[in-house]
Amino acid sequence: MSKKVETDCIFCQIAAGRVATEILYQDEEVIAFRDINPQAPAHLLILPRRHIPSLAHLSEGESSLIGRMVGAANRLAKSEGLSEKGYRLVINYGEWGGQLVTHLHMHLIGGRKLTDKLG
Ligand SMILES: [Zn+2]
Repeated sequence: MSKKVETDCIFCQIAAGRVATEILYQDEEVIAFRDINPQAPAHLLILPRRHIPSLAHLSEGESSLIGRMVGAANRLAKSEGLSEKGYRLVINYGEWGGQLVTHLHMHLIGGRKLTDKLG
């Protein structure tokens, strides 16, 4: 079975198994792997297999995908040993939001005390 892959999207390439990366979690809809430019001792990315460019491209019917990503993130946080001290989940959107790859993804960050307070 061949699937269409967005060849100019690095995350689609990873999801399709065309770029060698250690996959830490995967199911039918979601995959997770380590950020190549970690901002903390633990920095994982959780994303949909399907190419959705950003949060702003997520239809209301697809919002359950975010719940699925959070579920995967929580599981990974546990296996990474982050659950006791705490961690942060972040989704960036757009230039000012700091989104670097145009494929919806969630950052799971932990392993040190995060000092920048968001509220
Ligand atoms: Zn993509």
